[in-house]
Amino acid sequence: MAAYLDNAATTKPCAECIEAMTDAMQNTYGNPSSLHRMGLDAQLVVDDARKQIAAALACEPGCITFTSGATESNNLAIFGAAGAYGKRQRKVVVTAVEHASVRAAYDQLEKQGFEVVRISPNTNGEIDPDAFLAEIDENTCLASMMLVNNETGAVLPVRRAFYAAKRKFPKLITHCDAVQGFLKIGFTAAELNADLISVSGHKIHGAKGVGALYMKKGVRLTPLLYGGEQEQKLRPGTESVPLIAGFGAAAAAMRKSMAQRTERVTALRNECIRQLSSMEDVILHQPEDCSPYILSAAIKGLRAETLLHFLAERQVYVSSGSACSKGKPSGVLRAFRIPDGLADSTIRISFCAENTAYDIKCLAEGIAAAQQQLIHKR
Ligand code: PMP
Repeated sequence: MAAYLDNAATTKPCAECIEAMTDAMQNTYGNPSSLHRMGLDAQLVVDDARKQIAAALACEPGCITFTSGATESNNLAIFGAAGAYGKRQRKVVVTAVEHASVRAAYDQLEKQGFEVVRISPNTNGEIDPDAFLAEIDENTCLASMMLVNNETGAVLPVRRAFYAAKRKFPKLITHCDAVQGFLKIGFTAAELNADLISVSGHKIHGAKGVGALYMKKGVRLTPLLYGGEQEQKLRPGTESVPLIAGFGAAAAAMRKSMAQRTERVTALRNECIRQLSSMEDVILHQPEDCSPYILSAAIKGLRAETLLHFLAERQVYVSSGSACSKGKPSGVLRAFRIPDGLADSTIRISFCAENTAYDIKCLAEGIAAAQQQLIHKR
């Protein structure tokens, strides 16, 4: 039986998602823009899903725009805000530990002539909200900070940083990539003090290829795409009714079970910490404030990729750094002050409520076997 411990990369679609998607494909395959009954029925499915995502963020449905995933949500937020508010205010501020879809968008803004300030974690490996705030001035149009880092599970001080920033500069646009925190650690849109929040379907047991962008009322964005009038003219193109329906159903199911899931995942992570910390040459990276869903561990003397393939042979699945970096050395781990020697040996173990104690046992045995066969026999 496979031990799938790579849930930060993607999750298995839940039964509610599959049912909603199947139903949408079989029964509501009309185009939501069509004026006849079948179009209206499809529009109602999209509207229901919008309400479900809005409920999960405790906001109004009108604040939700569906996208093809968080990569698009992040790009729409960043280029959309820079386009709408960055004509005169040419400075933007971002942390140095963001997901590639935020990092690369800011790199692109730099090429377009924006001054980009990147805030690195302090010597404790934490993003200091005061250091973030200190870089924001009246020339800054946009600031981004992710909620939960996808490589280490660290929870960033979004609430505090954005609260202080908005108090001082009310016109500043704040953006949070909340993908790894959505329906995993509790928050509402209002609590984050973010004008823009990106979330993704496939990290919460929805399907791949769908996400959403929360936009606070009154915020304007320039679109990335031009075409029809779908999604308040912000995201033209015929809506993927099945993907959206599945995302909504998954969000509703995850919302209902959030407390039990958190309890279960916390217990699994604690058990994983207990087993791994008793092993020689295993160094756990545990940020002070971290999500129970992610555990970062370095196995001294083994390259993460070698270990990952060894474990995969035993049907134990984890990641090396972030799945999106595809084996490239992780600059994010370095930014978190994990020494280069350890960063290369760091794997990411990420949980969901369906994981079992058996999965943890398979992982611990797999790591022990790798140490035995790949290090000690050298
Ligand atoms: N942000 C974070 C923090 C992520 O972990 C991911 C997924 N790796 C994304 C954005 C991109 O999400 P999607 O796959 O939906 O484009």
